[in-house]
Amino acid sequence: MQTPTLNFNKVHFVTSAPDIRHLPDDSGVEVAFAGRSNAGKSSALNALTNHKNLARTSKTPGRTQLINLFELEPGRRLVDLPGYGYAQVPEEMKRKWQASLSEYLQKRESLKGLVLLMDIRHPLKDTDQQLLEWASSNELPVLVLLTKADKFNAGPRKNIVQQVRQDVLPFGHLVRVEAFSSLKGLGIDLLAEVLTEWYYADAGPEEETNAE
Ligand code: GDP
Repeated sequence: MQTPTLNFNKVHFVTSAPDIRHLPDDSGVEVAFAGRSNAGKSSALNALTNHKNLARTSKTPGRTQLINLFELEPGRRLVDLPGYGYAQVPEEMKRKWQASLSEYLQKRESLKGLVLLMDIRHPLKDTDQQLLEWASSNELPVLVLLTKADKFNAGPRKNIVQQVRQDVLPFGHLVRVEAFSSLKGLGIDLLAEVLTEWYYADAGPEEETNAE
């Protein structure tokens, strides 16, 4: 059976929400993007959707702490989770944010996959590991993208990818680690393929036949 093609260019912004109670209906399939601030999440979302500034909304002051939700087609959504690890954010705000993030990851039924972005030079910081733990305890598949991979030549890059693959073994077999560069276009096709798999994993044969 032919795999359907999702047109990531057709994405549009739906809403920004402070917590899961303000999100649209928990039906269909959602894929979330998470990462430390500056990990390259906006650049990856822009590269995937071929938009120059899709994730600008998520960077608007006042929205950086919100869950930003985009739709690709009815029932298939992309979620831009707030970046974490800001040095200047007060403890109280960090705690609130962590609570809303963990709630989203643990309670959102339509969440079928997590893309976790980490700068290839600084992988697996505390919160990254915390997210992997939540994902693993909820049997949620994770695609770890080691971003800005263009900072290394092929040899050292491969070594880091191998090392991180070893390091994530304790988080189970649903974690996949790949090098990624928005700048050089590395890993974008793979990202689109993995997302398409997640989006169509639950689709019945009828829907697959009818897709473009
Ligand atoms: P976000 O805070 O996670 O959304 O990160 P951004 O996408 O805004 O990127 C943070 C910084 O990393 C910016 O200065 C980008 O230009 C840079 N950056 C993002 N992706 C890449 C990449 O693939 N290669 C390189 N060399 N720099 C990148």
